[in-house]
Amino acid sequence: ERTEYVEFCQSIMDRFEMSKKQNIEFVRYFPRGSFYVNVDRDKLTQVIDNILSNAIKYSPEGGTITFRITRRGRNIRTMISDQGVGIPKENLPKIFNRFYRVDRARSRKLGGTGLGLAIAKEMIEAQGGEIWAESDWNRGTTIHFVLPLDRRDN
Ligand code: ATP
Ligand code: MG
Repeated sequence: ERTEYVEFCQSIMDRFEMSKKQNIEFVRYFPRGSFYVNVDRDKLTQVIDNILSNAIKYSPEGGTITFRITRRGRNIRTMISDQGVGIPKENLPKIFNRFYRVDRARSRKLGGTGLGLAIAKEMIEAQGGEIWAESDWNRGTTIHFVLPLDRRDN
């Protein structure tokens, strides 16, 4: 479905801000203007939900989660950052694997099955995009993904 991406992300962030329980701040850096993508909205909603749930789950009390959108040529890039525990470099490529969880003890305490990012990767790639992670142990994590813009009037 042809979708205006900034508005689409605004409404997802609005929903998260309404329902947040922890003391977490959300910051948005969204571009002006309209950017159209051709996506399965339900699947893309699930992708962003999975990434934001991780960001919340691994954030410290009082942490900030930043949601940034930038245009890069024919693509639109999304970056979701937190100030949480982070992921050691050697584990970064594996976090998109099914059932992979970085620290078993910590992960068990926080709950989950290790599927959220595997699903996100499958869905982003099915829509012609790419997803990857960047992280500093103890400083935080950023999940990046790019999606192609709709060819019509972008
Ligand atoms: P599920 O999403 O199925 O409930 P999960 O959150 O453990 O479980 P994924 O979302 O696939 O699974 O993430 C895989 C692993 O990557 C997590 O267990 C965690 O170790 C690590 N991880 C993911 N996002 C973050 C983050 N923002 N900060 C720190 N670690 C993260
Ligand atoms: Mg998850």
